[in-house]
Amino acid sequence: MDMTVTPKILDGNAIGAAIQADIADDIKELHFLGIRPGLTVVLVGNNPASEIYVRNKVKTSAALGIASELITPPASVTTEQMLSLIAELNAREDVDGILIQLPLPAHIDTRRLLEAVSPDKDVDGFHPVNAGRLQSGQPTLAPCTPAGIIQMLKRTGIRIAGVNAVVVGRSDIVGKPMAMLLLQENATVTICHSKTRDLAAVCRTADILVAAIGKAGLISLEMVRPGAVLIDVGMNRITTYADLERFFSGNTKRETVFREKGSVLMGDINPHAFALASYYTPVPGGVGPLTIAMLMSNTVRAARLRRGLPVS
Ligand code: NDP
Repeated sequence: MDMTVTPKILDGNAIGAAIQADIADDIKELHFLGIRPGLTVVLVGNNPASEIYVRNKVKTSAALGIASELITPPASVTTEQMLSLIAELNAREDVDGILIQLPLPAHIDTRRLLEAVSPDKDVDGFHPVNAGRLQSGQPTLAPCTPAGIIQMLKRTGIRIAGVNAVVVGRSDIVGKPMAMLLLQENATVTICHSKTRDLAAVCRTADILVAAIGKAGLISLEMVRPGAVLIDVGMNRITTYADLERFFSGNTKRETVFREKGSVLMGDINPHAFALASYYTPVPGGVGPLTIAMLMSNTVRAARLRRGLPVS
């Protein structure tokens, strides 16, 4: 009997659109109550990549009926000036979410700014108070990327409770909150990092494997248990023919992109390993599109929590 199963793609664009449709309904309900959720994005200086991200965030919020505002201090702005801006936004009744687009210029004290944002308006979920609330199971604003991954798993009907989940990476914005959210959903969670001994053996125990490392194709075929769910958070650009050959030999689409642009985007999981999975997220088009959907979701959540309205 042939036991091979065709792996299913977890389509981040489709799931992100479904999340946004639910948010749009939620926002209509809030409008009916006379509430218009507001998101303020602060973009310092002119980093071209940040400008694209910010434009998308503002456009998406406007399309959903969120009152969005973009503030663009010059690159020369000081930490003190930024702190007064944040204090102003914290006090404003019409602002539910404050997002400081990272990275900030080197002379600015990023940590001080992020900690100055009111935890109730911290839609990125980066404030230590929100990390603490997440850890103690209180209603919180969780970081968007891991929160989006939980939505993706749930909406696809992938079982989380009781399964072995392995998270590779322990950053404050992806790895750690991912592990906490999986734990909250009753998975048995292992967190790996650069000092983990025999990473391959640990990864092979995973029913759900989340890679949030930032190293192209680090998760290889022999690290994957057949039938596992593979979630690839990594965003890496490969620029050599040797890597193209190693990861995408025979993939004419990627070869064409490489010839045109001189580079190709890929995740932390060797794409050849996807063939072993029950489900997997492609890069691009997997986890990425969920992040913005969850930012919108957090803005609505912040608007509700601040007014004592119920949240799911
Ligand atoms: P960080 O650099 O902050 O963290 C990387 C983690 O990977 C660290 O915990 C590090 O361990 C671990 N690591 C590094 N090398 C190894 C190794 N050889 N074996 C095991 N673990 C290792 O990255 P982020 O968490 O911010 O981001 C991870 C990736 O996800 C990046 O590619 C980033 O671009 C992408 N990303 C994508 C998003 C999306 O929307 N799709 C959103 C956010 C991030 P240690 O702690 O020991 O150093």
